[in-house]
Amino acid sequence: MTAGMTALARIAAEETAPVLELERVSKVYPGSAPVRALDHVSLAVTAGELTAIVGPSGSGKSTLLHLMGTLDTATSGHVRIAGLDVAAMTDRQISALRAAQIGFVFQQFFLAEHQTVLGNVADGLLYAGIRNGQRQQLAAAALERVGLARRAGARPVELSGGERQRVAIARAVIGAPPVVLADEPTGNLDSVTGAAILNLLAELNVQGTTIIVITHDEAVAARTRRRIKMLDGRIVADTGCVLAVGQGSS
Ligand code: ADP
Repeated sequence: MTAGMTALARIAAEETAPVLELERVSKVYPGSAPVRALDHVSLAVTAGELTAIVGPSGSGKSTLLHLMGTLDTATSGHVRIAGLDVAAMTDRQISALRAAQIGFVFQQFFLAEHQTVLGNVADGLLYAGIRNGQRQQLAAAALERVGLARRAGARPVELSGGERQRVAIARAVIGAPPVVLADEPTGNLDSVTGAAILNLLAELNVQGTTIIVITHDEAVAARTRRRIKMLDGRIVADTGCVLAVGQGSS
């Protein structure tokens, strides 16, 4: 955070600044035939949004999500998280920013099979400097939030696909990040289970988490208030930010 900023000025800036902002961001993967995966993409995401990113395979959706999540860096342009320009930060500062601001959910769940469900969720805080006992308590609370408290002692192998994705979501939200980025979170699930996962993400959104979800699934895209369509590394359609009426109080 900027040194010298008064607390009041900081609060005012945080309220008005987008939680996530890309300004003319390009990403070129080098190689004998370099690929321009993102081509001058500008985008601002406001706190409280539930947004889908759609588009055909290869259009740049995952690259966009990786840059928004600071998992990769832009070739040019600016990525700002909570108003902070990632390009001006050290790797350590970026890791701290990511840990505080962003939770990730992926299609493949990425659960550690040798760990219990509780352990998998607690690992979401491994780099947050929180003691093990408290990590376990927060993990139990996160499992409660996703409706899986009774499976805390199970191993991932004992769970259904939908339950595994719930564990992954609990791990993503254990540190209460303001933003959750989800890459095809229903991609490995049947439609009924996928709908339940989407309900869970929508619930988290109503409770205040900003959610951005990449999806091929029309049923998912139809449930979000904002849809951004990618093609050949560019945004070709954007319905714009629409916050739910009474969001946060319903
Ligand atoms: P989507 O998520 O929409 O399928 P991606 O962001 O994965 O699109 O890919 C956009 C383009 O960038 C594609 O042409 C893809 O082949 C290319 N690409 C993605 N990752 C890499 C990489 N690590 N190295 C080289 N090219 C890549």
